[in-house]
Amino acid sequence: MADGGDPPLDTMPLAPLVPSVPDEETGAVVWHRDELRTADHPVLTAAARNADTLLPLFVFDPQFYGDSGLACDDRLRFLHESLADLDEQYRHATAGGMGLSFAHGDPVEVLARFHNAGWDVFAARGPTGRYGRDRDERAREAADVLFVSGDGLVRGTEDTRDGWADHVESWFTDETLTWDPEGVELDHVPAELTPEDIEDAYGITSVKTRVPTGGREAGVETLRAFTDRIDRYPESISAPLAAREGTSGLSPYLRFGCLSVREVYQHVATNATADRARELFTSRLYWNRHYKQKLEDWPGWLDEAANPVLAGFNADRYDPEYVTAWKEGKTGYPMVDAAMRCLRETGWLNFRMRAMCVSVYFHILQQPWKPGADWYHHHLIDSDPAINYTQWQSQCGLVGKPTLRFYNPRKQVRDHDPDGEWIRRWVPELVDLPDDHLPRPERTPIHVQESCGVKIGETYPYPLVEYEAAKEEFWQRYDAIKPEAAARLGDEEIARRVSLSGGVPGAKRIADEHGDGAAGRDRDGDTPRDSPRQTDLTRFE
Ligand SMILES: Cc1cc2nc3c(=O)[nH]c(=O)nc-3n(C[C@H](O)[C@H](O)[C@H](O)COP(=O)(O)OP(=O)(O)OC[C@H]3O[C@@H](n4cnc5c(N)ncnc54)[C@H](O)[C@@H]3O)c2cc1C
Repeated sequence: MADGGDPPLDTMPLAPLVPSVPDEETGAVVWHRDELRTADHPVLTAAARNADTLLPLFVFDPQFYGDSGLACDDRLRFLHESLADLDEQYRHATAGGMGLSFAHGDPVEVLARFHNAGWDVFAARGPTGRYGRDRDERAREAADVLFVSGDGLVRGTEDTRDGWADHVESWFTDETLTWDPEGVELDHVPAELTPEDIEDAYGITSVKTRVPTGGREAGVETLRAFTDRIDRYPESISAPLAAREGTSGLSPYLRFGCLSVREVYQHVATNATADRARELFTSRLYWNRHYKQKLEDWPGWLDEAANPVLAGFNADRYDPEYVTAWKEGKTGYPMVDAAMRCLRETGWLNFRMRAMCVSVYFHILQQPWKPGADWYHHHLIDSDPAINYTQWQSQCGLVGKPTLRFYNPRKQVRDHDPDGEWIRRWVPELVDLPDDHLPRPERTPIHVQESCGVKIGETYPYPLVEYEAAKEEFWQRYDAIKPEAAARLGDEEIARRVSLSGGVPGAKRIADEHGDGAAGRDRDGDTPRDSPRQTDLTRFE
């Protein structure tokens, strides 16, 4: 966030500027948050059915800007572009009529003004952390907000995972929702506040490269282009260079709701001809719902280890120099360094690179998980708290399962960048290092270093820690706490929260087999699974 002037607090629509609902009519504010579209929108559909007049509104919450905000400027820019696009969607739907209204300030205070002027307020019920839950609860009290679900997640039952996959499947295949713009009037707040004003006030400056343009129009184009090339999807998932062009690139559009997950599912199901590719892709849309369900079930994922026994693991080893070297891509592991630089420069990484950098950070450098997860959340354009923080905890092993996924960064070079094209692109210091030495530059013989001009320890660092020794040390520390962590999975509340394969009985089985007193040491080599089967949904922890 660049230095900006004072935020435009006084541009928040004040009570006199909030239009009144005409006598004997009903008016509904559609409070948009992450659902920046007008199609397949449960809230808009419900509000349009219940009111004569709609007032679509977005509130810029200072909590997400300035020093308290965690998003990088490029993600905020993506959001603002998506808002401008949503404004257009409304204007288009009403033939050049009213668009989206904007306000700045505490959303609860803003909504209370509308409520006091006679408006009903509708918003989407969605998974959120503690801040969001508290805000929504306050909004419910102050403005009687009606929270509408309809996002495919399961609510209101003790065991949300009971029949979960069937429930989600039927939601994916249900008809998408529509609303009739001609059946309602649209109203607008006469306040001059635009996303550009917010950018000026907070000094938002785009610095990353290759960031996609926000908004539904760009999202629809991305979806169509991906569907046309979907046959190349299966072989593009793992290697970082191939993934950039080969996976869908839809994550930021799904994150901000420019497209609904269901629309994407149905478009691909109808238009993609390659069966395997279609199945692999749609299985990931289930993953999307799976992680969203996790946060819906427990808001603590963003700030607290899911398994309390593992809270604070690595905290005593916090080393700011290691964390900084990891963030800046100076660990001495070329694949990690390339990935971390790519993340910072472009705001995107494929799944395998995200997971590998988590593994090196937590298992090898042995640093506390939260600063790492926050760094991803800051830089990823698609960062969705429901996916980012839950994935972090799963990859680190904070759930307390006996097995862990290690991603050996040297093996990743051999498997996914054998000719070093990706590494050389992001780590120019290694451009002249022969391919054979890219997995372990520190072992390059001196005469080779001299002839290619790459001097380990001078032009490129030695690894911060030695991989095998660090891995062994991690295991010793993890083995020592593992039985207690496994035993804790027998606790019903924790078992539900972590939603492992086999559900609560599966977690209890782990507690029985690996909990305090049980013998056995389960280790995982370098065998991550990032292509699970769609039918194996509960294994996506
Ligand atoms: C530590 C870590 C953090 C992550 N943080 C995020 C995040 O904040 N936001 C995010 O959308 N994805 C996240 N992912 C998952 C995955 O890396 C991205 O969804 C994917 O790289 C986005 O690119 P794409 O849209 O081209 O993917 P595609 O392969 O085209 O997938 C299509 C969509 O499926 C969903 N999806 C794919 N993989 C996963 C997954 N493993 N878990 C959940 N949903 C998935 C996403 O919505 C994605 O857009 C994270 C993964 C890890 C290991």
